[in-house]
Amino acid sequence: MKSRSAHTKVHEAIKEGTLPRLGQGDILCVDCGAIAVEYDHRDYQKPLEVEPVCRKCNAKRGHANGFTSHLDEMPVRTAADYYVCSRCRHEWYRRKSSEPKRCPRCRSEKWQQPEQQAVAVSVK
Ligand SMILES: [Zn+2]
Ligand SMILES: [Zn+2]
Repeated sequence: MKSRSAHTKVHEAIKEGTLPRLGQGDILCVDCGAIAVEYDHRDYQKPLEVEPVCRKCNAKRGHANGFTSHLDEMPVRTAADYYVCSRCRHEWYRRKSSEPKRCPRCRSEKWQQPEQQAVAVSVK
């Protein structure tokens, strides 16, 4: 899989609204919390499985798994990696163990809470 097509897919996803646009200050680097400016591919086989990072961290991370095939080539997906936004029904996977703060599509921070019963769920 070529990295070029993976990047093209990301650009298309941003245009379509599947991925939030970066560089506007509201998406933060998953590594250091600075303003994210790029999407980092961890695996070019999964062109839309990306993490927002700042330029510095992206450089630090280096190439995606496509170039270093010995690194967790076959990640086991668990229920914990699978998320559904209760607001827009967007479904997505994440390879980080930490919980996402926002839904990547509608950017709601309350994506875990059902619309009508926001009280029922306690987010720590
Ligand atoms: Zn960073
Ligand atoms: Zn959503």
